[in-house]
Amino acid sequence: MTLRLTHTAKTYPDGTKALLPTDLAVGRGEIVSLLGPSGCGKTTLLRIIAGLETPDAGSNIWFDDDNVTSLPVERRQVGMVFQSYALFPNMSVRANIGYGLKMQKLPKPEIEARVTEVLEMCQLQPFASRAITALSGGQRQRVALARAIAPRPRLLLLDEPLSALDASLRETLRDELAILLREFDITAIFVTHDQDEAMAIADRVAVMSHGHVVQSGTPEELYRNPMSAFVAGFVGNAMPLQGNADGITLHLDGGALTLPANGAGQTVFVRAEDVRIGDDGPLRGKVETVTFLGTHYRIGISGITPNTIASIHTGQNAPRVGDMIHVAIKPETLMLLPQEADLA
Ligand code: ATP
Repeated sequence: MTLRLTHTAKTYPDGTKALLPTDLAVGRGEIVSLLGPSGCGKTTLLRIIAGLETPDAGSNIWFDDDNVTSLPVERRQVGMVFQSYALFPNMSVRANIGYGLKMQKLPKPEIEARVTEVLEMCQLQPFASRAITALSGGQRQRVALARAIAPRPRLLLLDEPLSALDASLRETLRDELAILLREFDITAIFVTHDQDEAMAIADRVAVMSHGHVVQSGTPEELYRNPMSAFVAGFVGNAMPLQGNADGITLHLDGGALTLPANGAGQTVFVRAEDVRIGDDGPLRGKVETVTFLGTHYRIGISGITPNTIASIHTGQNAPRVGDMIHVAIKPETLMLLPQEADLA
């Protein structure tokens, strides 16, 4: 199914403009993540798509050629997975997955067949008769997905589905979720405030800030070509290099850098993996922190800009705290972005 929103907005009764007029199109089978900081309107947008929230007048929501704007949630045929899962704890896995089908009054053999099918897809057969209370967090997450998919929804909506899990499990499960969603071959919208999660799972990420979508693109596009300081900072933690631009030269506390273009009126950003420590670098700084992270070191460097900047350092020989070092940053890795007020 394709999803299309035009001019869709939400003002809550107290006057809060949670969603400003937004257009969004999601292709058949596409997995789109709504990514943004707390309060930016992700959940509001998801709930409007689900039919749990009534949008402002003038909003239009299309499922294929059907205008569903005034259709209630129970008639929209959407599957939902919430962070709390909302499973029935004392019922078996099988009964939980079959619950929605039973409510739809499908014939028993059909229910059995569909439950068996999704149990297999989600690799839950060994747990079919177990109660939810006897499952791990990751297994519960799979049951919640299986239950949402069993009624064959037109659209699957997921609201922070991994946030109840601990960090190490989250990482394993996000890869698993990415694979499962593609196996279901369903159009899906996925809300998260975690950029790694959005990038790992989604075909396309819509970055939100203060009630609107500020940029949408593939994870690579957003990472390589952010169009605002906000996106550069939020996706991949780009760091601003505060200095004075004079044509294509950027004067910093720790030396001068060549820019890829005229930097007047722009803020210059760099990512930690492009800040290279080496004897030939034109910048000088002091090592403040050295953090060993297994695959690499993260080095905090002062003296180059008013703030400490980070460098990803691979290889065996990491500098030590207190060392004076040279740093190089290639012009083509610098991002020049318009100065803006909201760096939230
Ligand atoms: P989070 O990641 O914290 O869940 P979010 O991006 O999902 O945040 P929303 O829950 O959509 O954000 O909220 C957007 C804005 O609307 C916030 O400022 C929030 O306080 C406000 N808001 C949400 N629900 C209501 C409501 N029922 N009445 C008034 N304001 C609301």
